Amino acid sequence: MANNSVKFSINHDAIKGRCLIATETIHTGEIIFEELPLVCSQFLWNAECKYDACQFCLTPLETAEENVSRLTKEQIKLPYFEQCCQTNKSKHVDCLGCGQKERYCSIECRQHAFEIYHQTLCYSRSEELANNLNKLCDLWKSIHYPPETASIMLLVKILARIKQDSTFIQKLQQFSKNCERLVANNPDECEQINQLVETLFEKMEKISGCFLNTEGSGLYELQSCINHSCQPNSEVCFLHNNFILSLKALETINPGEEITICYLDECWRDRSRHSRNKYIRENYLFTCQCPKCQQQMNDPDVTSDEDDDSDLQSNPDDDEAMNCD
Ligand SMILES: [Zn+2]
Ligand SMILES: [Zn+2]
Ligand SMILES: [Zn+2]
Repeated sequence: MANNSVKFSINHDAIKGRCLIATETIHTGEIIFEELPLVCSQFLWNAECKYDACQFCLTPLETAEENVSRLTKEQIKLPYFEQCCQTNKSKHVDCLGCGQKERYCSIECRQHAFEIYHQTLCYSRSEELANNLNKLCDLWKSIHYPPETASIMLLVKILARIKQDSTFIQKLQQFSKNCERLVANNPDECEQINQLVETLFEKMEKISGCFLNTEGSGLYELQSCINHSCQPNSEVCFLHNNFILSLKALETINPGEEITICYLDECWRDRSRHSRNKYIRENYLFTCQCPKCQQQMNDPDVTSDEDDDSDLQSNPDDDEAMNCD
């Protein structure tokens, strides 16, 4: 993880509660902080669809080529595939008690998981525990169809963490308050790669639908302090292809300025103030007062056309979700 000097403080605002305020100039593209989740979990439907990820850090356990081949149901060769999210298979290990159901990218991840929560949840403890956990997961899947934005296993892991370490509850209380890097010099090659990626995504979309971008969800303490703006100055990204969250500055942020992220995805951001706030009120229980909303204060209360064919209840973008693409 990058070791950044801290350029912000956590302040308390009478209306917004906790907020992150820049204490030094933060430049465009700078990583403001990186953090590990308090707890995270792969989505259950992703696991059901054989997305192979480390059960502790969510690092993919399959190569980009295997991933694409599985999703398109075709044997596909990727150019530069050595540089696309490689995974070191010689290091992969299973839980000694659960076997292949609980796989990890390394012995270290297996050890961390066991020390933190898996000792309580390991199937080897009792048949009854294994049956109950399976029943719970099946029940969850039967009422939460993809795209999932959270998993019941987050809650189960939280309870297991508390059982294994009673001080974890204090961290939770804090919380509750709150591939490619390829540069081809050859324009023709670039174009070919772009076309290949486009075709692959079309094929994957057809077969895998909404499984494309997200592997799981997690609870992040620091990220949970960041307030929303419809015109944010930073964004959450997952640069390490695992559970480490990075916050990246989208513009220069001056000392004294609040650091913000957008709780809405790209397409929702462009909708009318009325539509955005309808969604924010229903899902986050506040009305946005950001500069963009203030500017559009006198706009008529129109609903964006896109709302007609979208489900207002669905989460447009889970801020705690992880991109493993
Ligand atoms: Zn791992
Ligand atoms: Zn186990
Ligand atoms: Zn706003």
